[in-house]
Amino acid sequence: MAALLRSAVPSGGQVQNTALSGGTGGPGALEPLLQAVLEALAKGAVRRGGPVPSGTPEELAAEVARVFAEADGGDALHRLTELLAYGSADPADPSCAAHLHCPPLAVAVAADLAVAALNPSQDSWDQAPAATAVETLLLQELARLVGYDPAEAAGVLTSGGTESNLMGLMLARDRVLGRAAGRQIEMSGVAGNGPRPRIFASAAAHFSVQRSAALLGLGEDAVVPVPVDHELRMKPEALASALRDCVARGELPVAIVATAGTTDTGAVDPLRTCAALAAEYGAWLHVDAAYGGGALLSDELAPLVDGIALADSVSLDWHKLGWQPVAAGIFLVRKAETYASLARRAVYLNPQDDEEAGYPSLLGLSLRTTRRADAFKIAVTLRTLGRDGLGRLVDACHALARGGAEAVRAHPRLELHADPVLTAFVFRYVPEGADPAHTDRVNAALRRRLLREGRAVVGRTELPGEGPGRVRLKLTLLNPHTTSAEVERLLHTVVAAGQAEEETR
Ligand SMILES: *Cc1c(COP(=O)(O)O)cnc(C)c1O
Repeated sequence: MAALLRSAVPSGGQVQNTALSGGTGGPGALEPLLQAVLEALAKGAVRRGGPVPSGTPEELAAEVARVFAEADGGDALHRLTELLAYGSADPADPSCAAHLHCPPLAVAVAADLAVAALNPSQDSWDQAPAATAVETLLLQELARLVGYDPAEAAGVLTSGGTESNLMGLMLARDRVLGRAAGRQIEMSGVAGNGPRPRIFASAAAHFSVQRSAALLGLGEDAVVPVPVDHELRMKPEALASALRDCVARGELPVAIVATAGTTDTGAVDPLRTCAALAAEYGAWLHVDAAYGGGALLSDELAPLVDGIALADSVSLDWHKLGWQPVAAGIFLVRKAETYASLARRAVYLNPQDDEEAGYPSLLGLSLRTTRRADAFKIAVTLRTLGRDGLGRLVDACHALARGGAEAVRAHPRLELHADPVLTAFVFRYVPEGADPAHTDRVNAALRRRLLREGRAVVGRTELPGEGPGRVRLKLTLLNPHTTSAEVERLLHTVVAAGQAEEETR
């Protein structure tokens, strides 16, 4: 490495600012820069000293503006990296547990560095020869994990659940509405006349379902919110009656979106009932398993998502339970032929004669053109840890959530909403005198206090419904190295912040 290093450091010990990351000289050019990045990451983390920098957003923005203005030439990488590390909410800290924001595995980040250095683009084989083959193989393996027949399934890497949900609903629109209207919707568009297309999703489904409906020309109002039970699971009888009413009004049920792992509570909708109703009404079944897909890795938790293989399409997110750096979304369909409306031919990317000559193309599988090789880090992770190794991480996080929920239950000032399903639970601090509006204010304020003091990053959400008393705190435990003692300490920090808020009121 020393010899390589010398060749990239021609004079004054400085790497040329215009050095490239590829080629035989790339590793040598990267070596001192990576050294600088690693040092800066360590310094920034030490300076932060916790899950998030203390202070207000304005204070942090002012520091960012100052360093951004001052950083210059050769020191910009080091200074700005140290600032980024200092100013990050770091999910590797046990007290950073708000969102489905995972601490990435070092091995996945290292694999992603190789992708960044080589910069393959998945829209044509001649920009990504090996990466194209890796993505194809990985998708077959993930299809098998879901329970699909990999010889019949198809899929693509996406930016995340949002894009995957959009793709599932787009294929649903083209297929189901196309069949009803007797024409190609992707060509002629959604007509104003004809039966109104409807999408059914639980009231706790991800907001990207509504967003997708808007983008697809169906309108957000096309989404029928199906009531949920206390655990935020879709009520099967409510779905059945919503479908009955829809058809009685002369409308067209296009898709059912079943959530396997809601963002807040990890609740899993009744997948088999959703599949049976989708089949009965000729609707597409999309399973949004952006969070709950992680259960497929664990022998203990896999039964939670039983029935997922009945879905026409599935969203998975390995930047949640999968410990990948963003982005690591996956979209899969059970039958490759249902992908037809997305197929694209671009003469400069995937000409027919190239494909006939054996040069494969992933272009027609994605909404995007230029696309990172996000499959690579997942493939490396899967081969390094195996499904079992990843399953142990899922189980560890599940056990942390169960232990945390027990601790909440045992604490007189904390109230648990429901037992954890996956790795998250929703709860609240109970102040003196249980006025609901006051309780909401204290919980919302204590979370901001924890951020301001740099002590914890705790989630905040609201239960479905109307009126005060719905604000809840949330812990999403995605760090498999966190201990149950650390989760208990975090809960005590929450209580102390709640008491401090009460005293200031
Ligand atoms: C996170 C999440 C999404 C959105 O995924 P992104 O990767 O953030 O685009 C969709 N659905 C569910 C259930 C989620 O938890």
